[in-house]
Amino acid sequence: MRVSRLMLVTLRDVPADAEIASQQLLIRGGYIRRVGSGIYAYLPLMWRVLQRVMRIVREEMNQIGALETLLPQLQPAELWEKSGRWQGYTAGEGIMFHLEDRQERSLGLGPTHEEVITELASDLLKSYRQLPVTLYQIQSKFRDEIRPRFGLMRSREFIMKDAYSFHGDEGDLSNMYAQMERAYTQVFQRCGLTAVGVDADSGAIGGAASQEFMVTADAGEDLILISPDGDYAANQEKAVSIAPPALPLPSGEPKVIATPGQLTIDALCSAHALDPSQVVKVLLLLAKLESGDEQPVLVCLRGDQELNEVKLVNALTQQLDSPVLDLKPINAEQLKSQGLQPFPFGSIGPDLSDQHLAGAHSWRKKFYKLADTTAAELDRFVCGANTNDEHRWGCNWSDLGSIAAIDLRNARAGDRCVHRPEQSLEERRGIEVGHIFQLGRKYSQSMGAQITTNEGKQEHLWMGCYGIGISRLAQAAVEQRHDDAGMIWPLSIAPFQVIVVVANIQDEVQMALGEEIYNELRATGIDALLDDRGERAGVKFKDADLIGIPWRVVVGRAAAEGNVELVQRSKRDANVLSRAEAISTLLEAIPTELRVQL
Ligand code: ATP
Ligand code: MG
Repeated sequence: MRVSRLMLVTLRDVPADAEIASQQLLIRGGYIRRVGSGIYAYLPLMWRVLQRVMRIVREEMNQIGALETLLPQLQPAELWEKSGRWQGYTAGEGIMFHLEDRQERSLGLGPTHEEVITELASDLLKSYRQLPVTLYQIQSKFRDEIRPRFGLMRSREFIMKDAYSFHGDEGDLSNMYAQMERAYTQVFQRCGLTAVGVDADSGAIGGAASQEFMVTADAGEDLILISPDGDYAANQEKAVSIAPPALPLPSGEPKVIATPGQLTIDALCSAHALDPSQVVKVLLLLAKLESGDEQPVLVCLRGDQELNEVKLVNALTQQLDSPVLDLKPINAEQLKSQGLQPFPFGSIGPDLSDQHLAGAHSWRKKFYKLADTTAAELDRFVCGANTNDEHRWGCNWSDLGSIAAIDLRNARAGDRCVHRPEQSLEERRGIEVGHIFQLGRKYSQSMGAQITTNEGKQEHLWMGCYGIGISRLAQAAVEQRHDDAGMIWPLSIAPFQVIVVVANIQDEVQMALGEEIYNELRATGIDALLDDRGERAGVKFKDADLIGIPWRVVVGRAAAEGNVELVQRSKRDANVLSRAEAISTLLEAIPTELRVQL
């Protein structure tokens, strides 16, 4: 390909609305253009990168026996009603784009495909003899993200590889899950990314294994916690740890202390020389359930710990027997609109009476109470007295009534590891590029997908699902590998492997040598680009750095002696070589299996 024919438009300035380096570089380098909020055009350079990523993904999926398929993006609401997810995905903060057709039938644009595939499986799979089966597809997904941002990282239309596997028993599912884990590791490695597998939240279904693959980069939206020995890595949403021990409260008789205006843990602790670990703080939240109920929730935490909302939502979903659609702190405004008297915010204790909820218009009239284990384990502590400006010092749980204790806190960097308490967790930021998940029988049960077993019984299928964010992965590669001058593509997914830059196209010797090298490289299967534009050499070098092609051959004045300059983008060191030397260096650097022209 010749750069003059590439419709290459590069920008010198950083686009105003691009927040992170990879997004800025992809726009500046002419890889992507924003069409609308969270909607991007993949320009020819980007499409080549995506095609290379997809090729690697396909090879690894085919290798483990997965079958490629293509499912519809337009999905009837009935399927989602059958699985019970229509409401959650379309109402409130639901992310499914949905519409009505001319016959007033509701449809959704696929954010994911569990419903469609399970319906097909229940139709097509009848006997254990057909199992296991794994299907995958690569296509655009649609999600009306609450905060689309960072270009392709969180967009509203994006490319995903999703796969679904079907099994007769749990053991067979675990087997496929392990194969997928290996295939994913291969995919990310072949794409030139440093990715780590981390334990991930598997939602409220519980029990089932789930792992995310994170590309480590400061711009990552996820916080991951890793043990120094590498044996433990988890998304903070899911991570567990041993909390630092609480400082014991000095001995003394229980008493009520005046705490005027001390509404935060910090204010309370500094006024009374307390350590936050000696305090039990209480959070009040309102859980909106799929059943339509609104449940006030009271959570007790040790003063030095933070609530992990994902853990709380999972616990509530399980214990209240209905998915939690929304969870927000209760504020004075809401109390008013429920017709309730103000609560003693800032001085609330674990034993806050249900009397406070009597007369609520739509809320349930009893608090659902939970305590984090670290709070429940305190012998004596300070907590609110349920009267404004007062706390109680020296409380214990037998005075307050016990509350069910579970792990509800965020694990943090510095906490000791559960598997080896002598090690402390470290934190990194991560970009989630893949997710594998043992779904179990959740969907096969709700959608009625059954097979006849070896013994002639009817049983629900076991399922796994496995995603890779293709477009997010491509941008993550840039986030992980770039410098001040531009992108540094890994050889395996670069849009072109070599760019031949003719410094002065008016010079016939230079132009002829450039063309010859370009043709010779292409004849060996190397995907080469020829910069044949009538721009100044400096402009062409800058563009070559920006678009990040791994190797650059500069054909300049030395062409007269048959010499060229060879530059590796990642090192930016120039070597003057004869044409033959340059080509043999490239042939050595670019293995035959990567010499696939698009
Ligand atoms: P996130 O937590 O980032 O919102 P998710 O867990 O909802 O992602 P999955 O349903 O697991 O995403 O989808 C599989 C993969 O698709 C993710 O691992 C990610 O790489 C990619 N992905 C998800 N949402 C987006 C998006 N809005 N834009 C680009 N890629 C996405
Ligand atoms: Mg995920």
